[in-house]
Amino acid sequence: MVCVDNLVNGWEVVIGLEIHAQISTKSKLFSSSSTDFGAEPNTQVSFYDAAMPGTLPVLNNLVIDQVVKTGLGIRGKINTVSKFDRKNYFYPDLPAGYQISQFYYPIVTNGHVNIPTKEGNIKTIHVERIHIEQDAGKSIHDLSAGHSCVDLNRAGVPLMEIVSKPDIRSSYEAMQYVRTFRTLLRYLGSCDCNMERGNLRVDANISIRKPGTQFGNRVEIKNINSIKFLGDALNYEIERQIIINESGNNVFQETRLFDPSLGETRSMRSKENASDYRYFPDPDLKPVVLSEERIARIKMELPELPDEKYRKFTENYCLTPEDANILIEEKAVADSFEIAISASKIKTKESIKLIANWITGELFAVLNKEGKTIEDINFPIEYIAELVDLILDKTISGKIAKTVFSEIIKTCGKPREIVKRLGLIQIQDESVIQNAVEEVVVENAPQVMEYRAGKTQLFGFFVGTVMKKLQGRGNPELINKVLKERL
Ligand code: ADP
Ligand code: MG
Repeated sequence: MVCVDNLVNGWEVVIGLEIHAQISTKSKLFSSSSTDFGAEPNTQVSFYDAAMPGTLPVLNNLVIDQVVKTGLGIRGKINTVSKFDRKNYFYPDLPAGYQISQFYYPIVTNGHVNIPTKEGNIKTIHVERIHIEQDAGKSIHDLSAGHSCVDLNRAGVPLMEIVSKPDIRSSYEAMQYVRTFRTLLRYLGSCDCNMERGNLRVDANISIRKPGTQFGNRVEIKNINSIKFLGDALNYEIERQIIINESGNNVFQETRLFDPSLGETRSMRSKENASDYRYFPDPDLKPVVLSEERIARIKMELPELPDEKYRKFTENYCLTPEDANILIEEKAVADSFEIAISASKIKTKESIKLIANWITGELFAVLNKEGKTIEDINFPIEYIAELVDLILDKTISGKIAKTVFSEIIKTCGKPREIVKRLGLIQIQDESVIQNAVEEVVVENAPQVMEYRAGKTQLFGFFVGTVMKKLQGRGNPELINKVLKERL
């Protein structure tokens, strides 16, 4: 397949995603059962969750606040009246025979998010709607021979379904879109986005067309629970659809499943329509009516959003898009970075860039190695700023700073005290450097002769040898200068 300008073999790829995000709450959407992960099967199931006759739903109001917050986070329209409908279908993990969802009147419509593109730009992807719905239970087919079992702990857990417009044009953009939402929902605290636990799942709709023509038939790939699998599934499907079209056939509109072990999608069922579900308003639930005051209060409590941080990091702090994207991904990292730059005494572009480098370079390396997050570090993040100040005011060299950093990690000591205690202050005294240079010149007479005969690449060797003599503490610029003069 030939890719030019986001076209594959001349075909435009059209993708729309439905994200199912578990809303962070302690109890379920319509019952007081716990939503905790990992409990024994069927221990978090109320009579209502098991659809016992005569039980009624009681709306969990925190769910509404979480979704309003999310709607504001995508600059969407918060609908002051929304309603619950019944989506009817029969499956063993759905005891009531219907799922309660917001079909006709969703709580949020028309928002957008900005995603980073491959080229380092920003692209806006529109969000059609966010609606609230119940999760289903889980069928277990491999527990005992001849039986299927069901675990209803998940039944009735609150989900928000976030439906994008078909604005996405490649598998890369689709992955970036999910990453952008993962970051946003974590900032907002409305979903923990733990994909391994199934708290963020994606249905991917995909079709292809020749640019400028009508949308083609879409295929929906269900229930993808990793960003990598999303990319793999879409890439497989793009190729499959192109082959079908180029052999003169039409893509069949259907629902498919991705098999990660084979890297393929396979047909699951023909695409169902809304009429198949016989939606109707749930007679047991009142419309959700939101006051302007309630929306205003939630708006007040919003944190600074990732794209606002991105703009600040690139425009005010002059960071590159790559650095900014890495730093904003987790709120705790972005906040730590800002604490560090405000603690730095030298507030220049250079110091900000260095602090960013130390956090995304050395600190992340240690955190990755130890499987920790920035919230686990046991020294104040301000120490990174102090370390950078020490480099910039030439108390220590960048190389010695690495030694100091290892000490901070080991002992949680203050950078300035570590430098003093270990005697790491940079040697600025020209006469000390001259002595070291003199010794090196005497001890390496043959190399000096070669250098003078034109082998200038040896200069680095001299710098290194002098530095070694000074236990790494010599001021590099001074060493360079003195060596040049002497040689
Ligand atoms: P359904 O419940 O039938 O899946 P939804 O409205 O929930 O319908 O979701 C439709 C999704 O499919 C949206 O994300 C939309 O952007 C996307 N979509 C619609 N038409 C196409 C198309 N031709 N190609 C790719 N995606 C599409
Ligand atoms: Mg769908």
